[in-house]
Amino acid sequence: MKKIILTGDRPTGRLHVGHYVGSLRRRVELQNSGEYDEIHIMIADAQALTDNADNPEKVKANISEVALDYLSCGLDPEKTNLLVQSYISELTELTFYYSNLVTVSRLQRNPTVKSEIQMRGFHSSIPVGFFTYPISQAADITAFKATTVPVGEDQLPMLEQAREIVRSFNSTYEEVLVEPQALLPENRICSRLPGTDGKAKMSKSLGNCIYLSDDPEDIRKKIMSMFTDPNHIRVEDPGSLEGNMVFIYLDAFCRDELFAEYLPEYQNLQEMKDHYTRGGLGDVKVKKFLYNVLMEELSPIQARRKELEKDVPAVMEILREGSIAAKEIAAKTLDEVKHAMRIDYFV
Ligand code: ATP
Ligand code: MG
Repeated sequence: MKKIILTGDRPTGRLHVGHYVGSLRRRVELQNSGEYDEIHIMIADAQALTDNADNPEKVKANISEVALDYLSCGLDPEKTNLLVQSYISELTELTFYYSNLVTVSRLQRNPTVKSEIQMRGFHSSIPVGFFTYPISQAADITAFKATTVPVGEDQLPMLEQAREIVRSFNSTYEEVLVEPQALLPENRICSRLPGTDGKAKMSKSLGNCIYLSDDPEDIRKKIMSMFTDPNHIRVEDPGSLEGNMVFIYLDAFCRDELFAEYLPEYQNLQEMKDHYTRGGLGDVKVKKFLYNVLMEELSPIQARRKELEKDVPAVMEILREGSIAAKEIAAKTLDEVKHAMRIDYFV
């Protein structure tokens, strides 16, 4: 069986470091491993509109922003197909057919949908499109017969729901669809990077993000105002790592080699943590180190972005070509789906 990747992001903002450690960095590694037959990365504009119906300009403006983030992180259109969801109308058709296989109560039980409804303050005025977006996500994944979906932890319930739809479709009609597997980051912190405010998830909609393209000065300010241990008042005080955002981010980003360059008095993160908990290591020093660690990763990405920003039409052309190629694949799956559902009268 072919090994196929499908994953993507909502164009609701520029991409942040949570996206990077949760999925983006992995996609680039998988792309360069050469182990996959096809890689499709989708900018999910139709999905973004399910909770931004009144703000189409925002969604539109973020298509090229997300594409710039992709390319600057190393996604290569020669190896990876970059596409825009709304261009592929077949996905909407698949969503419509799959919705017959899902109950309202099953959607209501989806923990990610539940928490996102709460986070967005929808109460009882939930747009139907938003409520049913797990079905559209199943359409996105299955249209490409994806076997592997690299995502953060918040997407696991979506993947489970997609797998159920596949099983239900294949047993009700014919074996057409492929059951996808989620691929989570190996490092648990990276599966759900918390926000700079300490909230459970860094999220574009919560405004608690360090964006990949943030100005270095803004990144410095965001790090300097991060929550640490409120009882760690003087440098000599023993500090706690529990809920300490600076150490949580170091867990996600730090590599031992960076100590030699920026903080040679320690060999690795554990030594630094031990010093902090013993007392004698101040927050400012840890924060400065985190800044260096982050910028080590982000500087080359930001430099590439600056170059790419000079020719945004070329970036849009990459998306156009990728979307055309994706449409062909999705159309083929849709034909198979309609055939299995006995709605292929005129072919
Ligand atoms: P929104 O608030 O609009 O939903 P978001 O920040 O949650 O935006 P998405 O576009 O929904 O971003 O998510 C894209 C991908 O990034 C998904 O695979 C998701 O699991 C992953 N992801 C998002 N936020 C994080 C995070 N804080 N840590 C790890 N992975 C994340
Ligand atoms: Mg999200």
